[in-house]
Amino acid sequence: MALSDLNPVERNEEGIAAVLGILKQRLGERFQTGQAIRSQHAHTTTYIPTQAPDGVAFPETTAEVQDIVRACAAHRVPVIAFGVGSSLEGHTNAPGGGISVDTSRMNRILAVNPQDLDCTVEPGVTREDLNRHLRDTGLFFPIDPGANASLGGMAATRASGTNAVRYGTMRENVLSLTAVMADGETVTTGKRAKKSSAGYDLTRLLVGSEGTLGIITSLTLKLQGIPQAISGGVCPFPSVEAACNAVIATIQMGIPVARIELVNALQMRAMKTYSKLDYPESPCLFVEFHGSDAGVAEQAETFGMIAEENGGGPFLWTSVAEERTKLWKARHDAYWSSLTLRPGAKGLSTDVCVPISRFAECVTETEADITEMGLIAPIVGHAGDGNFHVLVLMDVNDPKEIALSEKFVARLNMRAIAMDGTCTGEHGIGQGKIGFLRSELGHGVDIMRTIKQALDPLDIMNPGKILPGAGH
Ligand SMILES: Cc1cc2nc3c(=O)[nH]c(=O)nc-3n(C[C@H](O)[C@H](O)[C@H](O)COP(=O)(O)OP(=O)(O)OC[C@H]3O[C@@H](n4cnc5c(N)ncnc54)[C@H](O)[C@@H]3O)c2cc1C
Repeated sequence: MALSDLNPVERNEEGIAAVLGILKQRLGERFQTGQAIRSQHAHTTTYIPTQAPDGVAFPETTAEVQDIVRACAAHRVPVIAFGVGSSLEGHTNAPGGGISVDTSRMNRILAVNPQDLDCTVEPGVTREDLNRHLRDTGLFFPIDPGANASLGGMAATRASGTNAVRYGTMRENVLSLTAVMADGETVTTGKRAKKSSAGYDLTRLLVGSEGTLGIITSLTLKLQGIPQAISGGVCPFPSVEAACNAVIATIQMGIPVARIELVNALQMRAMKTYSKLDYPESPCLFVEFHGSDAGVAEQAETFGMIAEENGGGPFLWTSVAEERTKLWKARHDAYWSSLTLRPGAKGLSTDVCVPISRFAECVTETEADITEMGLIAPIVGHAGDGNFHVLVLMDVNDPKEIALSEKFVARLNMRAIAMDGTCTGEHGIGQGKIGFLRSELGHGVDIMRTIKQALDPLDIMNPGKILPGAGH
């Protein structure tokens, strides 16, 4: 079954025409209907076909978001929230047309409360903008997906990144949020208290809901103190299995690594050329420690011993900021560097996550599968969480390659689920992973559908995403 057929959404031509007129009048130049801007708001970074919305709105306030949602509800037209469009599973596509709500003009930092280690921001603030703003406060926001994503988009996809092993994901770092729901009313899901037992956890219902329940218009986020000392480095291993076993031992021993990232030999080749890294072309772990001077030195030493016991090393580490920045820039650019391994190809990024004890098994079986299927597909991973990405490089004009890649991804997702893991550790379901949700969560999917129907009975909030269509 083609992805675009999986969850078809019927177009409501009459309703769409009415909403286009209303929003043009309400927002003027801040409502755009040009072909280029519409396509840009549905691009998917992968091979999933672009399904453009009919118009793109640029609200500046919660009240404007409410007006947009109310107009769409009145005429039964889809509303698709948009951050920076870096999601990877067709999340911002508009299979039934409708209105893309671009939050880039809602980019104010509303409050920073250093004493409480929290801040409140609008959804269009990006993670890098926030950290630039915080630079002189001694605080930082740790969640770092490879793209400079919006904080609204990151909350909506329950994103994470290299620091999640130490600081958690968006699930742990959103204290509360305000969202415009499908009827146009706003809900604020909590206060700024660090803990709360007040009823159902609406914050975590909306975090990860991919714009299918409401549009987030502000978020209160936890912040962290910038550590006194940071050290890190790269450690080569003779095999991916040896590297994974070193990760498992590090986590099981409770070493509080801040980052521990797996990069396989093929990905190292790409990074050596693209990011000018001078390390062996073998599987490597990129590691970072946060703490006091003595603490990070001790952690680095213990990790070096674990690496050696697993046949790895030498572990070369540094506290020099410029050298560390170069390493992590290379790691964050892994997606772009891997594309140089096959010029002209597009990348399909997977993100399974398994319990840490199954990590080595899952990665080695996957590497064997890549070889058996004759794919070019480097691997990088947030290894400390048992989460890894395979980037399948494929010719998107060749249906046979697409079919082969989809077969590989299906096998990978089902392998992770069979190991008590998930088909998506951080990217979300969007359109691309709908087919795996039932295998992973069973009856949980029906409960999700009940929630969706209760909160969005007209199915206008990002329809065709997350939940399988009738009969699945
Ligand atoms: C090179 C690269 C590397 C990446 N690395 C990582 C990684 O390490 N970890 C990771 O987690 N992800 C990663 N991603 C995926 C992506 O960056 C994340 O999914 C990110 O959280 C998406 O944010 P965005 O602003 O781009 O959202 P968009 O793509 O614009 O939207 C994503 C989803 O969120 C919804 N949404 C957006 N804003 C709102 C809002 N205000 N209210 C409600 N719903 C909203 C949209 O409707 C859509 O369903 C990577 C992507 C790329 C291209």
